[in-house]
Amino acid sequence: MKAISLLGIPHDDNSSFMKGPAEAPPLIRKVLHSDAYTEWSETGVDLSVADRFVDHGDIHFDSASDPWEVIEQNVLRALGSGDPLICLGGDHAITHPIMRAVRRRHPKLTILHIDAHPDIYHEYQGNPRSHASPFARIMEEQLTDRLIQVGLRSVTDHHREQFKRFGVEVIMAGRGSEKLRLDLTTPVYISVDIDALDPAYAPGVSHREPGGLSTRQVIDLIHTVDQPIVAADVVEYNPRCDISDMTALVAAKLVKELAGMMVKLGSRRTTTLE
Ligand code: MN
Ligand code: MN
Repeated sequence: MKAISLLGIPHDDNSSFMKGPAEAPPLIRKVLHSDAYTEWSETGVDLSVADRFVDHGDIHFDSASDPWEVIEQNVLRALGSGDPLICLGGDHAITHPIMRAVRRRHPKLTILHIDAHPDIYHEYQGNPRSHASPFARIMEEQLTDRLIQVGLRSVTDHHREQFKRFGVEVIMAGRGSEKLRLDLTTPVYISVDIDALDPAYAPGVSHREPGGLSTRQVIDLIHTVDQPIVAADVVEYNPRCDISDMTALVAAKLVKELAGMMVKLGSRRTTTLE
């Protein structure tokens, strides 16, 4: 049976505007395992079977160590089992140290990044580790072969220069309703910033950006992936901005669909090899 690793990364020190995403992991887990909902993915995978989720708990941060080192080491350890990993954020800054670990295990990699924002500022408010900058660091350090960003609707000329510099493939939010062909040819890492969704669906984020994707569109996009999903993150859920846990429910739903696809694509691959 295919297992899925879970790792909570409760870190939001690099959020520019407000804190809160560090409180998200236990709330996402609570909904994920709640008796109010089935643990079946839409793709027909039973996620409730024993040992399906191997939960590595939440990373503990202390002031003595560099959080980037701590995240990289913990992700590396979680990946050690060979099972796909879903990281629960935290703000989007954490994707940089996560990718440092993921890249060590995956020499061929495409990142599918779903977000309202490109998060590719060279630096933001003087902070190169800002949650507005992880993809600048990821591209500088060549931690992926391709970066595909979907759902963007808050783009500046500086971002456009960065897209050109790094060869980023951009699909603006306005194209979200088209049938997207991503032409994936490598294993995939999926990074889901909850603010990719319209605030109507997911109000619990620090930076609400109207004009976003529906929950349905994001799920459909995840379902179109036809290469193994080796790891993923769900970041930027901010419980302090949520309305009756609506957004926790959305985050948990996306975790379920990511896990379902990890199982489905993983087992299909095994079948092909046999
Ligand atoms: Mn965002
Ligand atoms: Mn983001």
